[in-house]
Amino acid sequence: MFTKSDLSKSLNQIDHKGYKAYKRLQQKWYNYGKYQLGLPYVQGDPFATPSQLFIRIKQDIASFPDWTFKNKIRRIATADYLTRKIATTIKETVKGRRGSGKSGRIDIVRTGQEILERTAIKFNSEMIEVRLRAGLPAKGRRILAEEAKQMLLEEIPTLVKETLFFTALDTKRLERHILTTEDQEILRDRLKEEGLVTFIANGSILPRKSGKDDRPLTKQVVPFKSPPELEVSFNLPYLGQVSGMGIKEGITLIVGGGYHGKSTLLQAIEKGVYNHLPGDGRELVVTRENASKIRAEDGRRVEQVNISPFINNLPQNLATTSFSTEDASGSTSQAANIMEVLELGSKLLLIDEDTSATNFMIRDARMQQLVANEQEPITPFIDKVKPLFDQHNASTILVIGGVGDYFEIADQVIMMEEYQPYEVTDKAKQVAANHPSGRSFTKQEQFGALSRRYPKRASIDFFSRNKPKIKAYNQDKLQFGNEEIDLSQIEQLLNQEQTKTIGQMLAYAQQEGIFNQETPLLTSLIQLNQLIDRQGLEVISPFSAPEDSYVRPRLIEVGAALNRLRSLKISKIEGVD
Ligand code: ADP
Ligand code: MG
Repeated sequence: MFTKSDLSKSLNQIDHKGYKAYKRLQQKWYNYGKYQLGLPYVQGDPFATPSQLFIRIKQDIASFPDWTFKNKIRRIATADYLTRKIATTIKETVKGRRGSGKSGRIDIVRTGQEILERTAIKFNSEMIEVRLRAGLPAKGRRILAEEAKQMLLEEIPTLVKETLFFTALDTKRLERHILTTEDQEILRDRLKEEGLVTFIANGSILPRKSGKDDRPLTKQVVPFKSPPELEVSFNLPYLGQVSGMGIKEGITLIVGGGYHGKSTLLQAIEKGVYNHLPGDGRELVVTRENASKIRAEDGRRVEQVNISPFINNLPQNLATTSFSTEDASGSTSQAANIMEVLELGSKLLLIDEDTSATNFMIRDARMQQLVANEQEPITPFIDKVKPLFDQHNASTILVIGGVGDYFEIADQVIMMEEYQPYEVTDKAKQVAANHPSGRSFTKQEQFGALSRRYPKRASIDFFSRNKPKIKAYNQDKLQFGNEEIDLSQIEQLLNQEQTKTIGQMLAYAQQEGIFNQETPLLTSLIQLNQLIDRQGLEVISPFSAPEDSYVRPRLIEVGAALNRLRSLKISKIEGVD
């Protein structure tokens, strides 16, 4: 290993040389005494993605106590805390721009309101490794050694001093960050034991600043308060006794007038599959981890999905037990979306009428009269939602403002009024009895079979012109080989980093043969997750140095991306009762 003064000398030697001379630092590690600095990948151009800069410090020196790393969720939460702390310290201590292109910048992966597993920081009982990006400075394409020395020999030591020694941290805040995260994890497990699908604590702040700003709304906000009939309590190790609204397994309607907070409640429930920062307002909105938002998504591709529980007798005798299309309609896309997430193990569907196909959700009495059942390929969701629960134990939470026909089959009805929930199940049943919908409920005792699909490995091709090509242009658009996967309708996806990680996970699983003809899709995705659990998310990195900006997605979103890959081919589909 080299020393800090070796680094200084090397920089002096390349001063004013062409930018590529920085490559001499590549893959070298420098001993800074208490820690080491490494440059696993050095960029050859000041305008391109900056170079990788890693810092490694042993726990003997960083001295984080056992309670910060004693289990996996605590390691994730501590790393998450450090990622945020480093980002704010960079803002305070790094000069930033000094020269052309990205010169002078030091960056760490972006964070949002969720506490997530990332590759930016590896944190365990032995060591901490921080993976940054640094724009090595240049004027034009000429190296600025003095500026580089400032960055690497002055700013980095300050950054390390303020963030990677336990004693330098606000330990009370760190403790709150870790233990609030752990409580959410514990609560999520407790939900299952209690037969609940989601919990929204009293006092939670559900609305966000804006569609583009995920931080809590602060002005004129109405905190959440459970109706007494639905209130449940939990005793959590750190936060103690918490009370709030518990939604049971089964079929739940959220009703109410327009603009009274229905969609906001459902969106908070959707994001409750993730853990949130203390102070987010949703840190005690916790949902079962396999919950899946369902919506219509016309135009999407569908590859051999059994949509026959919902759709039969299509014109031209198109088969619906293994239905494929390059351009799904609103209703067929919504049917396919449901069947795909059920295949991936989801036991909770979240549906908002705002984003649903009307003809998929309901056919009312008059339409039943006019169009003979034999002429209508769609069995609407209203006729299937109960058999789905009875046969497959999959619950549904539905936001419905416009159609009272669902009152008959709901197990519970919650009304939002002025952003407050009320329990109105009996009232709704009364209304249903007094005002019959006149619908003939097509007797649907069975939902029908779920599926197990076997993807063809060769159809998951991430090469383009003989080179791997995996790139997230933004959260919604993933380049995968020659294909572009549209993820814009995947509402529980959080950010561009997750999108990129999904692309890399799929490529990795393809390359390693985790996807193969003999293994069903779900089994392959579980195997991939188990491998990542054992070896860390960085295992999917294609190069020798681990990638620094992966963010772990859920299995459901990984599967969703694969299901939207236009080249995907399914070799076999089996029914599962
Ligand atoms: P709905 O789906 O019932 O039509 P939304 O959930 O879209 O209503 O909410 C309408 C508006 O009210 C949104 O701008 C949202 O941010 C705001 N809102 C929702 N819940 C609250 C709340 N608890 N306090 C203040 N504003 C809220
Ligand atoms: Mg709405």
